[in-house]
This record gives sequence, structure tokens and C-alpha cells, in this order.
Amino acid sequence: MSVLIYAENAGGKFKKSTFEAVSYAKAIAGQNNTTLIAISIGYVAKEDLAALGKYGAEKVLNVSNDKLKNFVNQAYASVIAEAAKANGADIVVISNSFSGRGLAPRLGVKLQAGVADGAVALPEQNGGKFTVKKTAFSGKAFAVVELTSANKVIALTPNSYKVVESGSAAPVEDFSVEAKASDFKEMIKDIVRSTDKVSLPDAEIVVSAGRGMKGPENWGMIEDLANLLGAATACSKPVSDAGWRPHSEHVGQTGIAVSPNLYIAIGISGAIQHLAGISSSKVIVVINKDAEAPFFKVADYGIVGDAFEVLPKLIAAVKEYKA
Ligand code: FAD
Repeated sequence: MSVLIYAENAGGKFKKSTFEAVSYAKAIAGQNNTTLIAISIGYVAKEDLAALGKYGAEKVLNVSNDKLKNFVNQAYASVIAEAAKANGADIVVISNSFSGRGLAPRLGVKLQAGVADGAVALPEQNGGKFTVKKTAFSGKAFAVVELTSANKVIALTPNSYKVVESGSAAPVEDFSVEAKASDFKEMIKDIVRSTDKVSLPDAEIVVSAGRGMKGPENWGMIEDLANLLGAATACSKPVSDAGWRPHSEHVGQTGIAVSPNLYIAIGISGAIQHLAGISSSKVIVVINKDAEAPFFKVADYGIVGDAFEVLPKLIAAVKEYKA
């Protein structure tokens, strides 16, 4: 028995969500008193592969081959399933990313495994029962599912588990699997980014705004500040419900969970459902005209003031600082 984590990379670099998934998989290996093996597919620098050991991987399998340079759903699933079988891994952890959502059901079939996608917490293992808390109904609710099969696949929701450093560099071994033509029936030919904006789940800085901004016509200031700081933009639920901003920016219990180094909340009251999605942010700055707004209770820095007066001054100050 062992745990296998698929360490996803983007353009040859591991993402924060990968370190979260490795840390999470390490905790599961700890629960079961077993080893954690990582597998990477594509071209990642040797030192970056070895560095997965910092997050708990005891060995890193490296699959570098031109056919698998870019993500191919079926082929990647075959490689991961083969690695799981070859290493006696009965629990496979992946990120619940775009590719992870394609891999999870395929791995479920290949390994005859129970699948918990969108996991948000460590599994509970009591009296032989293995249960996982996961999101349901597009993140509008949570479900606790029991995985009853011997093999299990868990896809971890990004930003729902903290990165934990627990070890040092791990040995890296090449792993090869003979690619089958049938695995390449559907391939990604090109990746076209729809936007150059920083992706919200991975953002180090998030500029977020709420109903206090009065209307979508006032988001220019939010965008300006975000662009200056290299930040992603986010919003509260009522803002996306009203169509002022896209739902992809909605942060909170029923939206995206973020864990940036800096979260700037402008004109957001700080309702418990909003805080649920941002509480693991390292530094929280709140701008609100109501000194009694609940958000100030969790703020590291607070500005009591009208956003329409504070923001232009803040933007000018950042511009001056950067000049
Ligand atoms: P408001 O509550 O209207 O607050 C606006 C704030 O702006 C106030 O604090 C006000 O003082 C301030 N303000 C007004 N004018 C200015 C100004 N000129 N300058 C500075 N500040 C100003 N909400 C989420 O965000 N995410 C979720 O995932 C989420 N999930 C939910 C799930 C459930 C089941 C339920 C019941 C609710 C959920 N909500 C969620 C809604 C949540 O309870 C709050 O209603 C919501 O977060 C409030 O949004 P807001 O702070 O933008 O608006």
C-alpha cells in the first residue's frame, strides 16, 4: 500500500495547487502509515522534481517524453494508473484543476476506484469507513461521500488545504510507459488564453470589491489597482449575482476559495460566508466606510473611509511608489 500524487505542472513549473495536493497526500500517507510517491509528466527541471520532497514526497517518478509534453487526458490517465499499479498505490491524489477534472473519472475506471472529486478536507477514516468532504452542486453545497472500494481517487480543490513543508529533496527516478495509439484519440492542439489577467485561485495578490462599489461602472478603479499590483480581481456574491462581475470572480463559501499573500477587500461587509473563502489569506486589508463592518475584525490593516475617496489616493500612491 502507498499513496500516489500526480504533481501537475503548467509550462514546466509546478503550481501552488500542486504543493497543496502533495502536502494533502502526505497527510493521507501519514494517516495510513505509508509512503508517498509523486509522479510528474512533461518536462520539469530535475531540481524542481526533487523539491517535491520538501512537501512530503519520498520518491518522484519522472515521465518525460515528447508525446506527453502537453496534457492528453486519456494518455495521462493511463500513465498515472500504470504508476499506481506498479507502486502498489491504492490512493491516488490529484488537483481538482481543469485537467484533474478530466483525469479523475478516467482514473476511476482504470483503477476500478471510488472517486471523490472536489475534496475540501482530509479524509476521515473511522471504523473501516473512508469518507471525504467535497463540494457539490457547483460549489453551492458540501457532501460527505464514502469510498468503499479498495482503490480510491481524490481530487483536491485548490486553496482548500495549506502547503506544508515536511521534508527535504526526494530522489527522482525515470518512469516509462509504452504509449498506446488509442490513448491519443483526443489531443489538445493549442492553448489560447482568453485573458492575460492573473488567475484568481493562484493569485498572490487579490483586489476584491463588494456592493459598496455601487455599480459595475465603478470597477475601473478596482481594475486599475489590480493591474498596478499584478493582482487578480474578485468580488462578493451579491456583486456577481447582480451581473456586475462574472461568477468566476465570486469568492466565498459558495464561490472560489483563495489564499493569497495579500487580500484587499473594498466595500465588502465581511459576512461569514465571504470570510469562509478568504480566511487563509496571509495579510488582509479592509477599506470600508463603516467602522463597525465585521470585516475589520479579521483585518490586519483597515482604512475607515469612502472607497471613492480612498481608492484614487491609493492608486496614485502605488503609481508614485512604482515610478
Ligand atoms: P453588503 O453586505 O451590502 O455590504 C456592503 C459594504 O460596503 C458595507 O459594509 C458598507 O459599509 C460598505 N460600503 C458601502 N458604501 C461604501 C463606500 N462608498 N466605501 C466603502 N465602503 C462602502 N457572500 C459572498 O461574498 N460569498 C459567498 O460565497 C456567499 N455565500 C453565501 C451562501 C449563503 C447560503 C448565504 C445565505 C449567503 C452567502 N453570501 C455569500 C452572502 C453574504 O451573506 C453577504 O450577503 C454578502 O457577502 C454581502 O456582500 P457585500 O459585502 O458585497 O454587500
